[in-house]
Amino acid sequence: MDFGLSKEQEMMRKEMKHFCKKELSKEYVQWMDENVDFPPDELWQKFVDIGFFKSSIPEEYGGDALSYLDQMIIYEEICKASMSVALAVGTTSGFGPRFIAELGTKEQKEKYLPLIGEGKLKTCMALTEPAGGTDILGAISTFAEEKQDRWVLNGEKVFITAAHASDYMITICKTESDAKPSRSLSVFLVPSASKGITITRIPKISCHHCDSVGITFSNVEIPHENLLGTKGNGWYEMLTVLNPERIACAIMGVGLIAAAYEDAFAYAQQRQAFGGPISRFQILQHYLADIYINMENSRNLTYKAAWLCDHGKPYHMEATMAKLVASEGALHAGRFGAEILGGYGICMEYPMQRYLRDAYQLQFSPISNEMSKNMMMQFQGLPKSWA
Ligand SMILES: Cc1cc2nc3c(=O)[nH]c(=O)nc-3n(C[C@H](O)[C@H](O)[C@H](O)COP(=O)(O)OP(=O)(O)OC[C@H]3O[C@@H](n4cnc5c(N)ncnc54)[C@H](O)[C@@H]3O)c2cc1C
Repeated sequence: MDFGLSKEQEMMRKEMKHFCKKELSKEYVQWMDENVDFPPDELWQKFVDIGFFKSSIPEEYGGDALSYLDQMIIYEEICKASMSVALAVGTTSGFGPRFIAELGTKEQKEKYLPLIGEGKLKTCMALTEPAGGTDILGAISTFAEEKQDRWVLNGEKVFITAAHASDYMITICKTESDAKPSRSLSVFLVPSASKGITITRIPKISCHHCDSVGITFSNVEIPHENLLGTKGNGWYEMLTVLNPERIACAIMGVGLIAAAYEDAFAYAQQRQAFGGPISRFQILQHYLADIYINMENSRNLTYKAAWLCDHGKPYHMEATMAKLVASEGALHAGRFGAEILGGYGICMEYPMQRYLRDAYQLQFSPISNEMSKNMMMQFQGLPKSWA
């Protein structure tokens, strides 16, 4: 059994760490968090220049086709610097290539994948609706009606990350009125510039420089060829594509924990009380030890899930566990990291408050921790506890 990373993987991590240190300084990330709802174009271009968007694109479409583990190693560094930036670039490098490479026709792959790899086309994924995200099959009512040469979409989505900045929304709609819910969905590539789309901001405490927004589709017409995959089979197709998303969300938690640990550790060493650094107090050392343990546990689980995914082995249990442990660990790290910083833990001047705010988002997105536990026990063979 080998827990080591290869030389190439260590090099990739080092390069991304270097990039993040240079381009995502704490000051710049704070500026973004206070001023923008999506990373500026100049920053996007820097990700393009280092070839980031090629990492998940298959080689035949101009990409680097990195393994999922390699992608997570790189992504962890971005998550550590800014979860918002990680989400912003991740909705394009994750959703776009996965949906199109898995479900697309040859023409769709040739048309879209090279553009995504070149960073010229941004994507998001619009599944959740106002009626609920956990019982998604019960909640979806956005309908795509098939006309001769087009589809006409009506309905509403909510909490869609990066939709306000995307060129294409990968949108899951009902297409069958009479079929059972799991046989009633289809996936579409919806051009964001289509007439009839309205975007609504949703102010929230987390990830300020990557908004998640509401979308209304009002008689939105899209070309017939923008169906991705098979009509009516969208539920099963989407699940296959979305499964790795839990691993990507787990690595966000790992990045947040690592950032909170690093900042709290440094602060404890320089802050003085009662004639010496506060790092000598046992209780603060225990806080740090717990954060460190959570970081190791979540990273190991996440890497293992990615490895299993790369090797074509079942990974759902590990991916679900990784998301759960990493998101809870991130919230804990923000909470106790802030404790170590005392009053400064909640001051906007320090990033600790951002880690804490951002960590909340991971508790229920893309799947709530309650539902994660339901699924884990279902994977273990216990009776399905919901529905
Ligand atoms: C910031 C943010 C970004 C997001 N980005 C995207 C995106 O890009 N695209 C997208 O499609 N969606 C996105 N989502 C939606 C996300 O996936 C949903 O919020 C999530 O699935 C939970 O749905 P809900 O918020 O409607 O909560 P609900 O489904 O209403 O759940 C409310 C509570 O009930 C609990 N619950 C429900 N059913 C059960 C059960 N059977 N057993 C136990 N507990 C249960 C839940 O765990 C939760 O605690 C995002 C959400 C947020 C907040």
